[in-house]
Amino acid sequence: MYLGYIEPVFRPPSEWKSLILQVTNGCSWNRCTFCEMYTADQKTFRPKPQGDIEKELKSVVQSGMPVNRVFLADGDAMTLSFRRLEAILAAINHYLPDVQRISSYCLPRNLKNKTVAELTQLREMGLSLMYVGCESGDDEVLQRVQKGETWDSSLAALEKIRQAGMKSSVMILNGLGGRLLSEQHALNSASLMNAAQPEYLSTLVVSFPLGMERFCNHPLN
Ligand code: SF4
Repeated sequence: MYLGYIEPVFRPPSEWKSLILQVTNGCSWNRCTFCEMYTADQKTFRPKPQGDIEKELKSVVQSGMPVNRVFLADGDAMTLSFRRLEAILAAINHYLPDVQRISSYCLPRNLKNKTVAELTQLREMGLSLMYVGCESGDDEVLQRVQKGETWDSSLAALEKIRQAGMKSSVMILNGLGGRLLSEQHALNSASLMNAAQPEYLSTLVVSFPLGMERFCNHPLN
């Protein structure tokens, strides 16, 4: 089986049984000061050509590996246009007709230019779960870590996901407000989750496995 991974490849823990299909490399935003997932040189953002994706799907079929779930990697596959996502889902359904769930990470901004009708169509093609890294519901924390989102933009995306009949799994990063902004980080994150009512919510803990240089060197920190 040939899967042309550009490492490192990340996936949510609950996708451990899924085929990880790398339809994009890296993250088109890549500015969050706490995140070093896609900072290596080889992880510069770029979509994978449709032909390459189809070659990988064919090789999965030839391997005989049973596939029930597919996760679209990397960090923001949902930045692709509706047309590109539609073509990718059509290929997955063609080569792997037994697939029951397709999921992806999703930045709130990825959905700004997609209508509920388009998202509904993608859901009908199997894309039914969005992992949304809200990280915080506090606008000051979000601004300081350069998330590029707000309480309002996060809620708008989560509501669109619900209206399209998809499920959302949200990540909130404990510790992201530091000591100074801890209380507002907690309260506004809770208020965002209460307003959005995602199906799944994970509270993770911010950590810096590669050191704090990227985080601390930002002028807002
Ligand atoms: S949007 Fe997600 S993947 Fe991209 S830099 Fe921010 S946390 Fe990392």
